[in-house]
Amino acid sequence: TYDYVIVGAGNAGNVIAERISAGPHPKSVLVLEAGVSDEGVLAAQVPFLGPTLTPGTFRRTPFDWNYTVAPQEGLDGRTFPFPRGKMLGGCSSVNYMVHHFGSSEDYNKLARDSGDNGWSWSSIKKYIFKHEKIVPPADNSDTDGKFLPQFHGTGGTVSVSLPGNSQSIDAKVIATTDELPEFPFNPDQGHGNGQVLGMGWTQNSIGEGARSSSSTTYLKEALKRPHVDVLINAHVTKLVTTRKKRGRPVFDKVQFASGPGAPVTTVTARREIILSAGAFGTPQILLLSGIGPKTDLDVLGIPTVIHNPSVGQNLSDHVLLPNIFNVRGQDTLDQIIRGDPNVVPGVLDQWTTSRSGPLANGVTNNLGFFRLPANSSIFNSVSDPATGPTASHWEMIVINFYLNPFGPPIPPAGTFMTLISALISPTSRGFVRLASADPFTAPIIDPKFLTTQFDIFALREAVRATKRFVTASVWNDYVISPWGGLAQTSDEGIDAYVRQQSTTVYHPVGTAAISPRGANYGVVDPDLKLKGAEGVRIADASVWPFLPNAHTQGPVYLLAERAADLILGRA
Ligand code: FAD
Repeated sequence: TYDYVIVGAGNAGNVIAERISAGPHPKSVLVLEAGVSDEGVLAAQVPFLGPTLTPGTFRRTPFDWNYTVAPQEGLDGRTFPFPRGKMLGGCSSVNYMVHHFGSSEDYNKLARDSGDNGWSWSSIKKYIFKHEKIVPPADNSDTDGKFLPQFHGTGGTVSVSLPGNSQSIDAKVIATTDELPEFPFNPDQGHGNGQVLGMGWTQNSIGEGARSSSSTTYLKEALKRPHVDVLINAHVTKLVTTRKKRGRPVFDKVQFASGPGAPVTTVTARREIILSAGAFGTPQILLLSGIGPKTDLDVLGIPTVIHNPSVGQNLSDHVLLPNIFNVRGQDTLDQIIRGDPNVVPGVLDQWTTSRSGPLANGVTNNLGFFRLPANSSIFNSVSDPATGPTASHWEMIVINFYLNPFGPPIPPAGTFMTLISALISPTSRGFVRLASADPFTAPIIDPKFLTTQFDIFALREAVRATKRFVTASVWNDYVISPWGGLAQTSDEGIDAYVRQQSTTVYHPVGTAAISPRGANYGVVDPDLKLKGAEGVRIADASVWPFLPNAHTQGPVYLLAERAADLILGRA
């Protein structure tokens, strides 16, 4: 028996473990994690090797759930891996480390939509200072003008830094913001001021050249306390209720096992169970526990404890389109991507001896968020889905090499630049559903990518804008040509290219969404308590009802910081 049982030692779960176990009146905490430890896993430390932890088209890994997306009708029926970290730190141990918080409009919309002003930007931004610790970049380069220090924390928990390996295209990107008014400079792409629009310098969850995850920071701190335990290889199979309070089922037991056929252990939570199993794991556990749409549960023979049609619905994700250009010169990172034996041992040695060089860096030094023009024809038929007038529709991520996560591998020769277009305000919604009542069978994951008119329009225009970006004079001697289908110019041609090349930015949210107290939709109340139940809260990406204007770890970190205060009755 513990005071609190947290399911999932991921991005959010570890924040809560640390925060609720601190203080003068310590509470006992057990964290259950299905995956393995991150200790001694080199690729979880070396920033640039992070992408090797997650699956590729023909590659599974022991650090990931190795999910496959359902065939996507909006993407020519294609299917591909849908990476999710399965180790201490969850996705924060395997992600690409881009770190920022999103638009103030995201939080203000969450406050409006949930009826809880505690989610508004003015209430939430204080957690930035608690959460982050800005540290110098790996190469100790000058950070002047690359972020707005007054909006960032220096005494928080997770190390965050600006790019630690300067690359030849950085200056060209910044020169483009000078030359083309369509792509203004944003002085703080860490969004400490809640402003996302424009192109700026990427901030990463990296400190001293190594990944800073929720495991290496929050969990590490929590585990120094004798009243905190974490179990790995502990796959939670369901939550159990044996009694009622105020006519509502009380969940106070969690069952877990190390694998199919292994003995099941039951642990009791005296105060609360906190579900932090992520946007796929959390709805899966709810459904296995009889919390979800009764008709779906009936089909699988799972007795319904709480009928809630919203569980697993409303799945939303940023779409990733890798726009690749052939470029001149040899100043790209393509040889590392190719695994060139003349290059890789040297840069690995550099990282090992001095935590510096290209491997100490994340995948991108510059990124920016942009809006469709206000007079775009789509707004004649569709209302603007951005979270507000200063929020974005799409993002550009600048990559100094060939990046095509589930597409063809890098060609044997040539050098490349990838300008990813990410769809930031998609209107498509999908679902996560059980494929089986067996907790060890992967759920069906169907985000229904690009199934609305708005989504395809926005990406088509993002492609056009991306091609305008490289018309700035600095690119004249650098960019040779668009690669593959990027050369298309007609609506039909671009749409075909978009549907053929798009995949995921790995940011699923919304499958156990926050809604107002008493609403007839949604899964948790604004205080993150499971609707219709006692004893359970949910805190992870699944409760964000819509996508923020950010790569999602920052918004999940802020949400988890507030969740801890809610649990302790301080928010
Ligand atoms: P997670 O961090 O996934 O935590 C869930 C935890 O629960 C996991 O450890 C999981 O193993 C565990 N779990 C699940 N089911 C069970 C079960 N039944 N029993 C026990 N444990 C269970 N975001 C950014 O901001 N920047 C980026 O650059 C970025 N890049 C990404 C790249 C990749 C490849 C991926 C996969 C994600 C990326 N993201 C990025 C997204 C971001 O990391 C996630 O949105 C965020 O970490 C989600 O946090 P979470 O707490 O909801 O879930």
